[in-house]
Amino acid sequence: MRPSPFPPSPRRHKQPRQTASTLSLLAPGTTAWSQPPELTLRGFKDDTCSTAHTGIQANPLLRNDELILRDYGLEYIDPDPIMHIPFPDGSYLTQWRDLDRTCAEFARYSKKDAETYRRMLADFESVKPIFDATTFAPVGFGKPLNELLAAHPQGKQWQRRLGMSVWEVVRDAFEDDRSRAFLLAVGHLGAVPPDFPATGRGAYTLAGQQRGGRPIPKGGSGELTKALGRFIEAHSGVIITNKWVKQLIVEGGKCAGVECSDGSAYRADKAVLSTIHIKHLVDMAPRESWGHDFVDGVSRLLQRCGCDARPRGNAHLESYGLATLRAEGRPAALG
Ligand SMILES: Cc1cc2nc3c(=O)[nH]c(=O)nc-3n(C[C@H](O)[C@H](O)[C@H](O)COP(=O)(O)OP(=O)(O)OC[C@H]3O[C@@H](n4cnc5c(N)ncnc54)[C@H](O)[C@@H]3O)c2cc1C
Repeated sequence: MRPSPFPPSPRRHKQPRQTASTLSLLAPGTTAWSQPPELTLRGFKDDTCSTAHTGIQANPLLRNDELILRDYGLEYIDPDPIMHIPFPDGSYLTQWRDLDRTCAEFARYSKKDAETYRRMLADFESVKPIFDATTFAPVGFGKPLNELLAAHPQGKQWQRRLGMSVWEVVRDAFEDDRSRAFLLAVGHLGAVPPDFPATGRGAYTLAGQQRGGRPIPKGGSGELTKALGRFIEAHSGVIITNKWVKQLIVEGGKCAGVECSDGSAYRADKAVLSTIHIKHLVDMAPRESWGHDFVDGVSRLLQRCGCDARPRGNAHLESYGLATLRAEGRPAALG
């Protein structure tokens, strides 16, 4: 176990920094201080969601240790091996923090796949800064992904990969079914079916994991929320629970605050931030204030990756057996 995957920050602050006062409104049933439930044995806490904090490690908040959350109780455990996948025939593949050791796992079944995996990682490293920059920049606050890729020496190849499905990328690159199944299973953790067009980036999930591991917050995923809550309160912020935001107050084309279902209203000096699901957000202000492009984009997002994705996705996951792949030469649910 190590305290945190971050190096000590050179900007360590002894006194709370002066920041704009923050007001956090949390929906009923949500609390910044919740404990993981005991779903199996008494005293044995179950982390039901977001067990490993992988993708978020590339967020500047954690990558640059902007809030120094370890001072507010956040501690990460860094498991090694990262992931172990057994197959129905008794064989298995394990991803270790050590790249050579992981390549040796692939090489047991295919030397070519081991080389492909090593090459894939190097390839991915060259574009990762571009992916990170666009993933964590709000729309309209930076150059779009395609524009940044166009300026990259292998940009066209990456644009093509992003237009493919996870399955197409993995099938073309790897020859052994176990290698393919491993990459498909990990690429599928976001629950979008790997045969969907334009999911190709998911084929590189394993590569991202090779670099950063699967850090687990000590005490459960809620520890991140708790640390953020403590940070807000230590900086004169206020957290109010049991508040259901009903609509946005829009003035002069800007969001100036929110109205809650109990009739209360809160105005913001600087900004209103929210992670409310976009399909609900879009109903919280008049359609014309979003613009046609935005509303159209939201409806398409839901058609492709919406409610139907998770149940179908789980069916895919169960079908990642070698027998299935051998029999059909592709994930079963493709048919
Ligand atoms: C089953 C599952 C497993 C996952 N596993 C992982 C994992 O292992 N690793 C990982 O990194 N990620 C994982 N994720 C994804 C991760 O949980 C999310 O990306 C993350 O929780 C998003 O955080 P958020 O703060 O943006 O949004 P949310 O956590 O969705 O927070 C939005 C909050 O807004 C509140 N809200 C909604 N509407 C209103 C309203 N009208 N008024 C007031 N409040 C409102 C909600 O109650 C909620 O608390 C998983 C997700 C699921 C569902």
